[in-house]
Amino acid sequence: MSKSSYARVIIDRSIHRELDYLIPEMLAEKLGIGSRVRVPFRERSALATVVAVLEETDAQGIRPIEALVGDKPVLSAKLIELARWMGAYYCCPIEAVMRSLLPQVIRRAEVTWKKQLFVSAAKEIPSDEIDKLRRRAPRQAELLEAVSKLRQPVPAADLLRETSLDNQTLRALEKRGFIVLREEAVARDPHAEDLFIASSDLVLNPEQAAALGAVEEALVAPAKAKPILLHGVTGSGKTEIYLQAIHSTLSRGRTAIVLVPEISLTPQTVERFKSRFAEAQDTVAVLHSHLSEGERHDEWHKIHAGRARIVVGARSAVFAPLENLGLIVVDEEHETSYKQEEAPRYHARDVAVVRAKMEQCVVLLGTATPSLESYHNAIQQKYRLLNLTQRVDNCQMPLMRIVDLRLERRKQKVAAILSEKLRAAITSRLEKHEQTILFLNRRGFSTSLLCSNCGEARDCPNCSVALTFHRGAARLSCHLCGHTAAVPKKCPACSQDALIYSGFGTEKVEANVTQLFPGAVVRRMDADSMSRKDAYRETLHAFRAGKIDILVGTQMIAKGLHFPNVTLVGIINADLALHMPDFRAGERTFQLLTQVAGRAGRGETPGEVFVQTYTPFSPSIQFARHHDFAGYFQQELEFRERCDFPPFKHAVLITVRSAHEARAQFSAETITRRLKEALPAEFILSSPVPAPLEKLQGHFRFHILMRGEAIMRLSRLIRETLDKLPLPEDVVASVDVDPYQLL
Ligand code: ADP
Ligand code: ZN
Repeated sequence: MSKSSYARVIIDRSIHRELDYLIPEMLAEKLGIGSRVRVPFRERSALATVVAVLEETDAQGIRPIEALVGDKPVLSAKLIELARWMGAYYCCPIEAVMRSLLPQVIRRAEVTWKKQLFVSAAKEIPSDEIDKLRRRAPRQAELLEAVSKLRQPVPAADLLRETSLDNQTLRALEKRGFIVLREEAVARDPHAEDLFIASSDLVLNPEQAAALGAVEEALVAPAKAKPILLHGVTGSGKTEIYLQAIHSTLSRGRTAIVLVPEISLTPQTVERFKSRFAEAQDTVAVLHSHLSEGERHDEWHKIHAGRARIVVGARSAVFAPLENLGLIVVDEEHETSYKQEEAPRYHARDVAVVRAKMEQCVVLLGTATPSLESYHNAIQQKYRLLNLTQRVDNCQMPLMRIVDLRLERRKQKVAAILSEKLRAAITSRLEKHEQTILFLNRRGFSTSLLCSNCGEARDCPNCSVALTFHRGAARLSCHLCGHTAAVPKKCPACSQDALIYSGFGTEKVEANVTQLFPGAVVRRMDADSMSRKDAYRETLHAFRAGKIDILVGTQMIAKGLHFPNVTLVGIINADLALHMPDFRAGERTFQLLTQVAGRAGRGETPGEVFVQTYTPFSPSIQFARHHDFAGYFQQELEFRERCDFPPFKHAVLITVRSAHEARAQFSAETITRRLKEALPAEFILSSPVPAPLEKLQGHFRFHILMRGEAIMRLSRLIRETLDKLPLPEDVVASVDVDPYQLL
């Protein structure tokens, strides 16, 4: 009898512990690290992932594994190593990390392949046999004739539909031995309907060629290569470099992942990758949150089985189970949507860099506006910096005009949404049949409803924010928790007819623009107007085709879209992003202005960007105006260093929340006291304070901010401190390492 061995598993439930089980002999051959298993747990059974196979164990009362789920391990040893790193770095239980690593549809293993019945001829069918059959069973003969013409098996359902015949006829032919019916798995391909026309590599300009050369150098010796930061202005041809670098990777027999922000995972993006690698239908798999369970199952297995060699996807595609990984591309690396805002609170760019190191592959971060973190790494020579300074179409950088809203207000007496200058610019675009984009990062019509008599505002009952008035829906709604309320006619507090609407969002901009330019076609693009499935695609299509003159929208239109006929961009209120209680507010404003500006201009005529602001002299606006990246980064880095903020120190934010304010506060104070005892002096610990967003979804929230360089150590000390400290049942403390949400 062979030596019995044990499997150490992580079960899918949060128990903060790994457990050992006996491997039954009959499973010993098939089971390995990364296998999914069913194990007895307490009185029931649970699904789990094997993370180690051991010859011995000290555990008591060992029970055997009940069953193996699926026949191949779902996670490689490298991905399990990555999960361990994430748990330690992000101060997060390993079970939660595992949940992110494997899509639910794979973990549960309930969905399987879609099966379809295929029909083919059992043998050569002479035409006189068909004639004989025709006399006795004309319908069977008709179907048999159709089958006899097939060159390959086809789905039975398709054949029956085309011939208008039924299942009974099909079965009768099978019984007579004329045809063979076979069930086969078919992929639910989200792009099955699309036709991709093969495109080929473009001839690179010298800057692009130099950048690709550097990436190829890294591909030749990936173990020694540093992560690469590709800083290229919008339209400088970064995507073309990704495509050719992937080509190079595949030709070395390796595979590639391309991460893009969810919002830019548009049909156009997918098409660019699918088309370039169109020779083999399966080569490119796509992973994002809009796939159906079945599609996700099929795409994932296509990758797992090694049929797909390129994965294009959003954040969680960084965990794609590719073997032989050669390249990870992170497009728009500065995008904060790479950060997951629930446990595990990981940042996909940073995870990509770590995975690349573990798998000895190349990681390429591309952006027009590097994050301070990545730029700092480049200056420190931890990353290799590559620059693309020219737009491919030789188009000039747009002219940035700053409109001082303070002066405007004095002139117009009232705060108009569009300044005179911006209005004149729109008029001239309409005359020339050129297009305009107006950008405002706030939805709705009015952002607050106040009583001018008693001063009462309509706040969300669950959150400390005002309710936004949506005119289209004729409701008040909270953008944080989704609460909605009817619009009162009179003030509910003092019963006076004195309600006033103030502040404005995209809905009002749209109304205002439509009124000012009655002849123009105006469309709005935000989460409200784009709720229908195809609305996004349709609106973009209409805009591209020139059927829309003015497009009003939120950040949805700020990202990665390129429209050659847009020569004017208006930023309605640049101060919105700038005055958030967040140390990254300046950085975000700079990025936003630069990204939005990248949408304007074509060929010979430079585009124009109007930036409306009450703080025209803030550095992020001034540096963006002059397209001065280096200048901006330098002063922002100095500021961050002075204040001990990232990228000089890591930040960790603990949020303590409870439906009872006093309990949340008390727990926050207790946690802080314990942390003070546990943390050495090198770590900066701030006192607990009410979060800027004091109340969210009915919970009162307190923040504890910590900063330090040795992040692994800090994470461990925080975890140990929290594990030792039982919190009251109705209090929750969550830990966010490298936080991006400071509200
Ligand atoms: P980025 O990703 O930097 O914004 P893209 O890769 O999308 O830029 O390139 C912008 C446009 O220029 C695309 O339409 C692309 O096909 C085109 N393009 C890129 N490189 C070249 C090249 N070397 N020659 C001609 N056209 C190019
Ligand atoms: Zn709310």
